[in-house]
Amino acid sequence: MAEGKGIAIVALTQRGAPQAMVYELLTAGRALAEKAKEPLYAVLIGGKVASYAQDLIDHGADKVSLVENPALENFTDELYAKAVAELAEKENFDKLLLPATVAGRSLAARLSVRLRAGLAAEVCEISINGTGLKAKRSQYSGNIISEVEFKSPVQILTVQAMVFPRAEKQAGRAGQTVPFAFNPGPSGIEFMSFQPEEANEVDLGAAERIVSGGRGLGNAEGFKIIRDLAHSIGAAVGASRAVVDSGWIAYRHQVGLTGRAVHPKLYIACGISGQIQHLAGMSSSGTIVAINTDPDCPMMQLASVSVAGDVNELIPLIIAEIRKRKGSAAPGRAAR
Ligand SMILES: Cc1cc2nc3c(=O)[nH]c(=O)nc-3n(C[C@H](O)[C@H](O)[C@H](O)COP(=O)(O)OP(=O)(O)OC[C@H]3O[C@@H](n4cnc5c(N)ncnc54)[C@H](O)[C@@H]3O)c2cc1C
Repeated sequence: MAEGKGIAIVALTQRGAPQAMVYELLTAGRALAEKAKEPLYAVLIGGKVASYAQDLIDHGADKVSLVENPALENFTDELYAKAVAELAEKENFDKLLLPATVAGRSLAARLSVRLRAGLAAEVCEISINGTGLKAKRSQYSGNIISEVEFKSPVQILTVQAMVFPRAEKQAGRAGQTVPFAFNPGPSGIEFMSFQPEEANEVDLGAAERIVSGGRGLGNAEGFKIIRDLAHSIGAAVGASRAVVDSGWIAYRHQVGLTGRAVHPKLYIACGISGQIQHLAGMSSSGTIVAINTDPDCPMMQLASVSVAGDVNELIPLIIAEIRKRKGSAAPGRAAR
């Protein structure tokens, strides 16, 4: 393989393990590396993460640049940007792919300044144009797809979740791990604490199945059946802005223009009318199931499967059927 300047994916870790999106970046990076005939690097960064190096190689990386330091135990964009920028300059990386997660976005912005690199955010398609990258971005709720080309020698992309499949594992694949000595120096940022998600919560951005609730649930208590249904099928819990604004559920669950953009294989919208701002975040889902008393609302029109009826009657029946098939007891009805 020719030693080019190198395509690098930034393998961000969370609580010591790679973020789920790292394996999607490996798929995207591998395809580019094949096309460009360049090696694919994975920058594995964190406090103590060396045990994942072979895993990244097994999933498509040719070389793992291992950036381990106790100061990198918790994500702070300032130190991470310093570490990745110093490594990128040393290794001459000219194409960097990061996840469009909260940490990935923040890091990409700082890297673009440090490396004087062009940055295309939230891309949904990537190709190689000659020796540089070309990308597509979905804008204005998916109504416009813009094409981005770079003028800068160093090019950075953040990649939307769920647009590339997870890389397949090829156990024992050959590759190389090279440690990078990083000296963090003084930092103006101090890490205070980590607040974990509620127990058993599936991350919305990486979820393959999502059950979302809207105003049709009636009140905050209505989310009990949403959580029960989500739990019974291993799904994440989503929500419309109307219920987030009403304080029924935390903002991190909001799907839509001003919430999260999601791309699950299955999206179940319960009591959500389907206003354009909500659709902006989920209309590219695989199968959409809508449960709503109004058969004419936009969500029911958009859905692959539309079920007309009251969520508080239908959802407990659906959960009971799922549990019956799984061989466990049925749940009670939620209070309205
Ligand atoms: C700048 C801007 C940004 C926005 N960003 C977002 C965003 O990111 N995400 C978002 O979601 N919204 C966003 N909104 C708000 C959006 O316009 C809607 O107000 C919101 O999505 C409506 O939420 P909803 O569908 O839960 O409520 P409603 O529109 O009130 O719909 C409730 C639905 O429940 C159904 N229903 C009622 N009772 C039952 C029952 N018992 N069983 C079954 N169905 C029932 C009704 O028929 C109706 O379809 C934004 C708005 C603006 C202006």
